[in-house]
Amino acid sequence: MMVHQGPCLAQTTAKTLITPHFMPTSSESTDELSIADLQRHIRQMYYEKDAARGTDGTFMWLMEEIGELASALRGNDRENLAEEFADVIAWLATIANVAEIDLNTALQAKYGRGCPGCSRLVCECPNSEKP
Ligand SMILES: [Zn+2]
Repeated sequence: MMVHQGPCLAQTTAKTLITPHFMPTSSESTDELSIADLQRHIRQMYYEKDAARGTDGTFMWLMEEIGELASALRGNDRENLAEEFADVIAWLATIANVAEIDLNTALQAKYGRGCPGCSRLVCECPNSEKP
């Protein structure tokens, strides 16, 4: 975990993300949140602050959250682990907003038709290759 000075913005943000006010904007379902819904919602909540911070500063927050996910994966607290996954994807959506990348479009383009390497729905790429 990074040591930072001053108020801990990440903690405030994480707490905000898990309040009952986190409602999807889609009318489809209340218990399913699509990537597009998430990115829209993150934009509504944080875009002004995120744009002011910029990609570099926001990337540092993502890295901190990834570190916290690593710690949670080694622990036994399932609730905390779920929160850390949520934080990582929320910060990823945040950076995508600042960098003006539509995550749904990007994901559809790259993974929507199967593995980008072999085009299969069940990957048949050699294990020596990524993915
Ligand atoms: Zn493949």
